[in-house]
Amino acid sequence: MKVVRTKDDLKEELAAPRRDGRIIGLVPTMGSLHAGHLSLLRAARGECDVVVMSLFVNPAQFGPDEDLAGYPRDLEHDIELATAAGADLLYSPADAEVYPEGFATAVTVSGLTEVLCGDPARRGPEHFRGVTTIVAKLLNLVGPDVAYFGQKDAQQAVVIRRMVEDLDFPVRIEVMPTVREPDGLAMSSRNAYLAPGDRERAPGIHRALNAAAAAARAGSTAADALAAARAELDSAGIEPEYLEARDAIDLTPIETFNGRPALIAVAARVGDARLIDNVVVESTQRPERQEQR
Ligand code: AMP
Repeated sequence: MKVVRTKDDLKEELAAPRRDGRIIGLVPTMGSLHAGHLSLLRAARGECDVVVMSLFVNPAQFGPDEDLAGYPRDLEHDIELATAAGADLLYSPADAEVYPEGFATAVTVSGLTEVLCGDPARRGPEHFRGVTTIVAKLLNLVGPDVAYFGQKDAQQAVVIRRMVEDLDFPVRIEVMPTVREPDGLAMSSRNAYLAPGDRERAPGIHRALNAAAAAARAGSTAADALAAARAELDSAGIEPEYLEARDAIDLTPIETFNGRPALIAVAARVGDARLIDNVVVESTQRPERQEQR
């Protein structure tokens, strides 16, 4: 795997494969790689001729009180893991390369970025503005045929799909399933912040989502399914920042599960870590009964 730091070097590395019509896959990451990131790299390896991973801890998506300075970083280890997972090229730019003096542009997706994590009382829409701006830049710099994201960050995936559709980026977006620890905790670079006692409580989030999904599939209303989840969170001693059921495509609130796929999403602070997780419940509506002849 080759490591490049500048957009000129990136362009140079991709010139020949692009000219030869090779399929280019992009996996954007903030590093501190875990099995979730590696599943995206493997998916890209399976479908693309050239696998590009970007590694950039994007200051624009961190709020002033968030963990930018302390965000886990281990470039050497990430290089080993990405190489083993089959990446061909790592683009790891410096902040000044991405946001040079005079940088003044942002990409904003409205509506979808103002709910859940984007609620102004939480991370706020600025978080997603930082995400869409960096992803737009990476899509322009790499020019991939396919870009891979994780369902773990469900709202991010919805927002990126919207941006790509609205701005006609010529790329296919693939969203891969959430990879979990054996006890159900969704893999996250921020799990490194969990003290041992918090690490033990954290899988309560996954149990809560499972309880909500089971209730939904058994015909519960959204309110009842969320109450089932809430009980699991309570028993793990976890107070959610939010716990909501929304349409999985347009993120509008839902009251029942018999329409389109539903996203049940949770964010919670567990010790020093702010964790997010979700489950998607497909429609529970029964197919119409065929008339018996
Ligand atoms: P990050 O480095 O946290 O910005 O994540 C980079 C990409 O990996 C994003 O598309 C995430 O959604 C994805 N990702 C993070 N955690 C997981 C996970 N547990 N399973 C699958 N994908 C993940």
